[in-house]
Amino acid sequence: MSYVSEVYQTLCDKYPDEPEFLMAVNEVLNSIEPIIKANEARYRSIALLERMVEPERIISFRVPWIDDEGKVRVNRGFRVQFSSAIGPYKGGLRFHPSVNQGMMKFLGFEQIFKNSLTGLPIGGGKGGSDFDPHGKSDREVMLFCQSFMNELFKHIGADVDVPAGDIGVGAREVGYLYGQYKRLTGTYEGVLTGKGLSYGGSLARTEATGYGLLYITERMIREAGRTIEGCTVVVSGSGNVALHAIEKALAMGAKVVTASDSGGYIYDPDGINIELLKKIKLQDRARISRYAELVPSAEYHEGEKPWGVRCDIALPCAIQNEISKDDAETLIRNGCWCVAEGANMPSSLDAINVYLENSILFMPAKAANAGGVAVSALEMSQDSQRLSWTFEEVDERLKGIMNSIYDKVTSAAERYGCKGNFVIGANIAGFEKVAEAMEAQGIV
Ligand code: NDP
Repeated sequence: MSYVSEVYQTLCDKYPDEPEFLMAVNEVLNSIEPIIKANEARYRSIALLERMVEPERIISFRVPWIDDEGKVRVNRGFRVQFSSAIGPYKGGLRFHPSVNQGMMKFLGFEQIFKNSLTGLPIGGGKGGSDFDPHGKSDREVMLFCQSFMNELFKHIGADVDVPAGDIGVGAREVGYLYGQYKRLTGTYEGVLTGKGLSYGGSLARTEATGYGLLYITERMIREAGRTIEGCTVVVSGSGNVALHAIEKALAMGAKVVTASDSGGYIYDPDGINIELLKKIKLQDRARISRYAELVPSAEYHEGEKPWGVRCDIALPCAIQNEISKDDAETLIRNGCWCVAEGANMPSSLDAINVYLENSILFMPAKAANAGGVAVSALEMSQDSQRLSWTFEEVDERLKGIMNSIYDKVTSAAERYGCKGNFVIGANIAGFEKVAEAMEAQGIV
């Protein structure tokens, strides 16, 4: 049995109830097989892969809080500190009912390679809770965040572990978490990113994941001899990533015709009105169906995903496993020739195989959505310097980082004889730096 298969089999035996984690590891290990084979004896002798797939530390804790009716509620909190090989642990916090340890391990594992691709000194981590902020009052969200931080603060720090937002954790939650950290520790340090501009946040952090997604997508399309201008784009989600992806796609001259939430999707053949969508989602915190009530040209499709809509480009920006093999086939049947992932692991492994078999231009999440964490790292730099850079400065750096990710991914794919396969390219390029750092630091 190959080294990669051995490590994966052991992991399946150890963690059979962590399907997302196993899927993420499977994808990475399969695609780095060429580099592992070339260095097998060395890597085996230091148990490199066995160490890489086992988190350095998992913190799991109770989060008790009191709701507006005076009832005591209890949630589970997690922080997976997966790898500090190349820098302090870095990765978002997710508040969503589906959060469990396996989900946190999947996201933390992906984060290691994504963070490595940015070229910045940040390790991999992820955290969150099965708390659902939907339908909760501001007061309830605040009390929950404070209780969550009452435990988390013991394990994080500006040079140790720097969490950020993710699904269900936006500006409001980051603010409450930061306030409680400061109160507990008495320090004013860059311990979280995605902070408000008035207390250490970075300009362009809010936009970074969605904008970065479009920067790398545009480059990929341009290198293929096409142009994004005039393309029809299908987007899922209507959260932080989706809204800014739509905004930048429109600015680049594309026409975005869908957006969605967990209730269903809207289709507007005239092109999404981003200002209205932002108002509905960010100000009114309403369901996406509201858009179709307000815009005569738009339709609302309850309980459905947007992958049946005719398009050139698909940008999944909602949640993991939102594109199945069937969805991928439907997309291609309807003319889609480019997919770039804003969300983490939105395409199943079968769906990815469909893209690759059909020579679709495909940029996987690790590379495509790395703009968010990259600007988070820039926020850390600004916090350390006690300086704030302008929006244009941060945006220019973001463009540079997305371009350099594109270069690394394509060159790694070519070096290993898989030109155009950006899944292999992203995994190998991300892996190389982490592996080198782990080898240099000994058995830790
Ligand atoms: P938000 O919470 O802002 O938005 C999430 C969006 O996904 C909402 O529109 C939500 O709808 C929708 N959604 C949630 N669950 C489902 C579901 N089961 N089916 C369909 N839609 C669903 O999160 P973000 O935009 O920050 O994150 C989106 C994705 O991008 C995640 O995979 C995240 O890990 C990834 N990502 C985010 C980064 C960031 O900087 N924020 C960085 C890198 C990756 P509803 O409101 O109804 O729940």
